[in-house]
Amino acid sequence: MDEPSALSRLPKVDLLLQRDDAAAAIARYGRGPVTDAVRRALDDIRTEVRAGRPLPPPDEVVTRAVADVAGARAGRLRRVVNATGVVLHTNLGRAPLSAAAREAAVEAAGYTTLEYDLGEGARGSRTAHVGRLAAELCGTEAATVVNNGAAALVLVLAALSTGREALVSRGELIEIGGSYRLPDVMAVSGALMREVGTTNRTRVADYRDAVGDDTGLLLKVHRSNFEVVGFVEEAGAGELAALGRDAGVPFVHDLGSGLIRTANDGPFAGEPSVEASVAAGADLVIFSGDKLLGGPQAGIVAGRADLVRRCTTHPLARAFRIDKLQRAALEATLEAHLRADVPTDVPTWAMLTADPASLRARAEQLAPLIGDVATAAPTRSVVGGGSLPGVELDSWGITIGRADVDGLADDLRAGDPPVIGRVDDGRLVLDLRTVPPADDDLLVDLVRAALGDTAARERDGGAASGDVQRAEDATA
Ligand SMILES: *Cc1c(COP(=O)(O)O)cnc(C)c1O
Repeated sequence: MDEPSALSRLPKVDLLLQRDDAAAAIARYGRGPVTDAVRRALDDIRTEVRAGRPLPPPDEVVTRAVADVAGARAGRLRRVVNATGVVLHTNLGRAPLSAAAREAAVEAAGYTTLEYDLGEGARGSRTAHVGRLAAELCGTEAATVVNNGAAALVLVLAALSTGREALVSRGELIEIGGSYRLPDVMAVSGALMREVGTTNRTRVADYRDAVGDDTGLLLKVHRSNFEVVGFVEEAGAGELAALGRDAGVPFVHDLGSGLIRTANDGPFAGEPSVEASVAAGADLVIFSGDKLLGGPQAGIVAGRADLVRRCTTHPLARAFRIDKLQRAALEATLEAHLRADVPTDVPTWAMLTADPASLRARAEQLAPLIGDVATAAPTRSVVGGGSLPGVELDSWGITIGRADVDGLADDLRAGDPPVIGRVDDGRLVLDLRTVPPADDDLLVDLVRAALGDTAARERDGGAASGDVQRAEDATA
């Protein structure tokens, strides 16, 4: 058959859309997207037929179109099983929310009292209540909440130091990842960055020498994601708070990860805490809602009432405001921290404090259910989220040796829900610290299914392997 007559036998768009498979796709994705995809499929087929390929049957046109639309929708946010052992995995949404925080967010999804005062029957404040909870937890006069930690820092700098110098140590000009670089953030805030000290040593005298009429604030930034060792010195929060009081300028401490209570032992020993910074006299502390607090994305600013008020009344506060879902989840998370110093009903804390013996028991129970290829083995988890570099937690997981280990990782990621593991030394490692025990059965089913897919592919020959998520871009 010659090419023009083959093309003339191509089915018409309207007829294709009347088929049952097309109708099902229209119900799911909408008429417009499916119609466009059918047209694109027909265009491609025309090109192929002109190049000498045979005319495909009509169902193939629709199949291609549906795959096209489904592919375009596959990027939607999906739940995953995090078996990486990175507790605060930024790429996987940092902190998983507690049951109470999830319920609160679901309830807040409809109409809420977001900015409504029930007593007065009139407009209320979006952040007053959540701010009071945060202040109570931090032991400060006042607090407010914005969209994330970065926004909190920009707001504080803009509200307290626009056109004036913000003094910061050269050793604390950090990059956090996701293009967050402190000098750039300071520049957009309108505060004038004035560096003091050196990369490795900064003393309070360096700040004192730089304080003058133009000083807007003293800033200390937690080096969350790296360590400096050797000939090092830094000005402590207490010294900076005292200098700030003498000079009449606020001392602001950006704690990043936001450990609330000081830990004297365990993995958090030595990590700066909100409690310690406030006790040392910080005028404002800043930290994230979705790092060690274990809540939703948010930035908390806590401290002196007059300074918090300057933040809440600044025009940027409107641009950085939280939404109702964040507020609901954050309130529930703050309440959990008010109930217990180590709130194990907050998943981040349940995972961080999980005992290696209980992780081992789970690993030894699950490995045989997966099969001979799986072994229970010790491994090491990390906190992640740019928190506590160099700190590793003893953990247990399931390791699977497989010729095509990258292919197995691909098959796990293709599951529903996807499982994200780690490839270590040619073996796939599934760290149980970051898998909630309630997901154990699901994990077994998903791993068995992926192993089946990998085995089938290995039988068929071509072992396609894709890129595996590496741990280093997970912790930014
Ligand atoms: C993580 C971090 C931030 C940014 O907080 P986000 O909530 O991620 O915006 C700012 N400062 C420090 C020191 C941090 O560790």
